[in-house]
Amino acid sequence: MVQSSVLGFPRIGANRELKKATEAYWQGKVSVEDLLKVGKDIRAHNWKLQKEAGVDVIPSNDFSFYDQVLDLSLLFNVIPERYAKYNLSPLDTFFAMGRGLQRKATETEKAVDVTALEMVKWFDSNYHYVRPTFSHSTQFKLNGQKPVDEFLEAKALGIQTRPVLLGPVSYLFLGKADKDSLDLEPLSLLQKLVPLYAEILKKLAEAGATEVQIDEPILVLDLPQQVKAAFKTAYDFLASQSGLPAITFATYFGTVVPNLDAIKELPVAAFHFDFVRNPEQFDDVTAILKENQSLSVGVIDGRNIWKNDFAKSSALVQKAIEKLGKDRVIVATSSSLLHTPVDLENEKKLNPEIKDWFSFATQKVKEVVVVAKNVSGEDVSAELKANAKSVSNRASSNITNNEEVQKRVASIDEKMSTRSSPFPQRLEEQNKIFNLPLFPTTTIGSFPQTKDIRINRNKFVKGTITAEEYEKFINSEIETVIRFQEEIGLDVLVHGEPERNDMVQYFGEQIDGYTFTANGWVQSYGSRYVRPPIIVGDLSRPKAMSVKESVYAQSITTKPVKGMLTGPVTCLRWSFPRNDVDQKTQALQLALALRDEVNDLEAAGIKVIQVDEPALREGLPLRAGDERAAYLQWAAESFRVATSGVANKTQIHSHFCYSDLDPNHIKALDADVVSIEFSKKDDPNYIAEFQNYPNHIGLGLFDIHSPRIPSTEEFISKIETIMKSYPAEKFWVNPDCGLKTRGWEETKLSLTHMVEAAKHFREVY
Ligand code: GLN
Ligand code: ZN
Repeated sequence: MVQSSVLGFPRIGANRELKKATEAYWQGKVSVEDLLKVGKDIRAHNWKLQKEAGVDVIPSNDFSFYDQVLDLSLLFNVIPERYAKYNLSPLDTFFAMGRGLQRKATETEKAVDVTALEMVKWFDSNYHYVRPTFSHSTQFKLNGQKPVDEFLEAKALGIQTRPVLLGPVSYLFLGKADKDSLDLEPLSLLQKLVPLYAEILKKLAEAGATEVQIDEPILVLDLPQQVKAAFKTAYDFLASQSGLPAITFATYFGTVVPNLDAIKELPVAAFHFDFVRNPEQFDDVTAILKENQSLSVGVIDGRNIWKNDFAKSSALVQKAIEKLGKDRVIVATSSSLLHTPVDLENEKKLNPEIKDWFSFATQKVKEVVVVAKNVSGEDVSAELKANAKSVSNRASSNITNNEEVQKRVASIDEKMSTRSSPFPQRLEEQNKIFNLPLFPTTTIGSFPQTKDIRINRNKFVKGTITAEEYEKFINSEIETVIRFQEEIGLDVLVHGEPERNDMVQYFGEQIDGYTFTANGWVQSYGSRYVRPPIIVGDLSRPKAMSVKESVYAQSITTKPVKGMLTGPVTCLRWSFPRNDVDQKTQALQLALALRDEVNDLEAAGIKVIQVDEPALREGLPLRAGDERAAYLQWAAESFRVATSGVANKTQIHSHFCYSDLDPNHIKALDADVVSIEFSKKDDPNYIAEFQNYPNHIGLGLFDIHSPRIPSTEEFISKIETIMKSYPAEKFWVNPDCGLKTRGWEETKLSLTHMVEAAKHFREVY
């Protein structure tokens, strides 16, 4: 029999039990015992589910109360002194590192005030991990034995598992040196760390584990030579220890071909590769296998929600069997299923035709088993038949295919993606209309999403208020926002986005080709989960999506109000994309839908239109090279297709946040004005990088994630610093991002101070 295996299962619970329990624990509403019990139940549920589905190799230690990388930091005692000094329980230390802790002193406990460790995106997924943070004083030692405890917990239920650990080289490489030890190179800690891996692996073996899965996902990145060399050092050491479980060495999310030299001599029992993302690496990666090594074939997509194509997957596994023999092949998920929602059966409202195309984690577990049975020669003809039918239904459905959209994408040409004149000429025409002062002020779009707004939106969704009542409510919110902006003297206004639940969902709901789940939650970080919309077919806009609100806002003021849209790349990146059409095509379809909207806004008298692309940077492919260059090219092209249908005099804005942006990446978008998250960047070099940005720019002047109110002087000194290397006539004054998560109180004061600072500079220059 060819074995089946799962690399990891979502740990949030089918009904977000983990979120509810952890948040209640943080609020002091449930005891630690209650919280631990919820974790234990979720684990037991997940193991049983996989066991019942017939999975041969079931993961353990894929559970975490916050983040699996942070689990390792606790396990290896990589706990900076600023957390350790409070002598909190291990679990509370863990949460303090993950999310910070601020607690007043009580009679029995002293005050705690510590910020969280840095949180970083997990490769190109929407998951974020807590960055291991090392210093010269880090004392490596085993702190507890979570992997062993969870292994034993499963064993007690009669379930043999394969514990999962992030590998030592990836763990160090994904970490960083702490502020007090900036000269420390994390990788230099390998000698200290690897013995701890040996120790925990030995304990696992003693507990009865015969195999472990060690993930080294950094192998899909461009790696410096000394990092590549570290794999041999680490895994040779582990191989030299006796009595350890057999290691399956796992990579995912990309090709490892450029790093094959780093792994080809590793003494491990099996390699796992992601053949969903990179099937073309098959020949190269299988060529490195020694006769005693097995291959875990990742064919069930851990990153998306589409039903597997059994015929296609089976063919690939069959190819592996032909090359290596049945005993050396394992059928697997491409990566952990952490990135997929838990259970499709929870979706009661999906169109049955569409639902038949989907597979969430619970369903994917069964898919792995079917493929394994199929290649083993067992009779799964009923499953294969049903699967082939779903696959062909999807391919030929008129929900998937819209010929008109396909034709329109094919007709995109240079002209459609180029403004009619270059920026200097556009600017001249725009200046005549807007007559803006030097240091023009604006905001990024949203104003506080108050409780009142959420209540009214819910009422409207539930039908307890009519569309007219809701519109009246939204208009009064817009009016409040407009009057406030006029009052404090902002130059280019926004309507405040009170009608929007989420910047992608709001448009997705109005675009044909999208669908939504009721319960398709995926962990983003800690207790924060997202429910990405799903692109199921060719995308088009049946009617205007945002014109009504913008027109109303513009009708009640003489100042320009920005039309406000979410860009094609961001709509794509924050959704589950199709896997039957390439990303570029999907982005261009979105671009065309947005182009119609941009043109409609212009026709309705809106003179400034902002198209947000906060996800532009995160879409950048992990490796330098052709794929990355192509991405930058189509990402910019989609933005330009969306925004080039307007006259010179219409001013196009764009906005970026969440990550370090290379100004070169946004040049090609050719927006007239861009705003960028910037307030936390003190680095003068980063400012200087923007010096040669040709069009106008607003570098964000305050952090919208914090209730803190910067004073006028603080704004002045920030702008002064920027002016040292930045031309005043190109500079806009704005916050980092939208204000939806802020209260009105701090919003009012912060913006007032910001406008005062701009006025100050108008007198200076
Ligand atoms: N216009 C959006 C807002 O202000 C932009 C949000 C974002 O960049 N994440 O809320
Ligand atoms: Zn933003």
